[in-house]
Amino acid sequence: MAHTEIALVTGANKGIGFAIAGQLAARGMTVLLGARDRERRAAAVARLGGDVHGIALDVTDADSVKRAAEEVGGRFGELDVLVNNAGITGDFTQSPGSDPVEEVRRVFEVNFFGVIAVTEAMLPLLNPGARVVNVSSSVGSLADMTAPDGGHLAEMPAMLGYPVSKTALNALTAQYAKYLRDKGIRVNSVCPGYVATDLNGHDGGRTPDQGAAIAVELATRNPDGPTAGFFDDGGRVAW
Ligand code: NDP
Repeated sequence: MAHTEIALVTGANKGIGFAIAGQLAARGMTVLLGARDRERRAAAVARLGGDVHGIALDVTDADSVKRAAEEVGGRFGELDVLVNNAGITGDFTQSPGSDPVEEVRRVFEVNFFGVIAVTEAMLPLLNPGARVVNVSSSVGSLADMTAPDGGHLAEMPAMLGYPVSKTALNALTAQYAKYLRDKGIRVNSVCPGYVATDLNGHDGGRTPDQGAAIAVELATRNPDGPTAGFFDDGGRVAW
C-alpha cells in the first residue's frame, strides 16, 4: 500500500494556512493543522473534516513547540511535509523614533525565530525526501526591493519588522536547504501573492486558495524538485 504522507501546517486555523491544509488534505495527505487557540483550531478541523488533526502549536512558545513535536511523534511518528506558514505583520508603529525594538522583536519571534524553533523540533521526524516550505513574501526580496521601481515593497508603508523578517526568512531557507540537502530534505520559500486575509484587513486581491497553490506545489513529492529556492506562481523569483 502506498505510504500516506503526513503534513504539518503552522498557523492553519485561517487564511492561507487553512487553505494550504485543505489543499494538502485534498491531495490525500494526513494533515496536522497547527494552531495556537483551542477553539479556533477545533473549528478549523471541523470545517475541513477528513484526515485532518488539530495540533496545539504556538510557534513563539518553546513549551508549546516541544509538546507539539512530542504529540506529532507519539501519534504519527513521522512527517513528510512541514509548512511554516504562521506569520504576523506587527502593528505599523515600528517607525524610527517610536522605540520600535520590542515590536520588531515580536514580529521576528513569529516570522523568523518561530520557524527555527518549529523546524528544529520537527527535524527528527522529517523523512528522507521530506519538503519544508516557508511562507515568505516578495516584500522581503532584496532583489525585488532594489529594482528601479522599488518592487513590491514600494507598494506598502515602510515597516522595520515585517519585510525584514521575511528577508531573514529567505536567507534562513537557504541555510536550512544546505544543511538538509544530504538527507534529501528540500527547503524552499514561497510568496503567496497579495491575498485577502485578516493579515491585511482583506485588502489583497487573491483568494487564500490561490495564495496556497504555490506552497502546495512545493510541498508535493517530486524527487527532482528544487531546494533553496524562492517561488511564486510565476516560478522561481530572485531573493
Ligand atoms: P492570517 O492573519 O489570516 O493568518 C495568520 C495565521 O498565523 C493565523 O492562523 C494565526 O493564528 C497564525 N499565528 C500568528 N501568530 C502565531 C503564533 N505565535 N503561533 C502560531 N500561529 C500563529 O494571515 P495570512 O494567512 O495572510 O498569512 C499567512 C502567511 O502568509 C504569513 O506568514 C504571511 O506573512 C504570509 N503572506 C501573506 C500575504 C497576504 O497577502 N496575506 C502576502 C505574503 C505573505 P491566530 O488566528 O491564532 O492569530
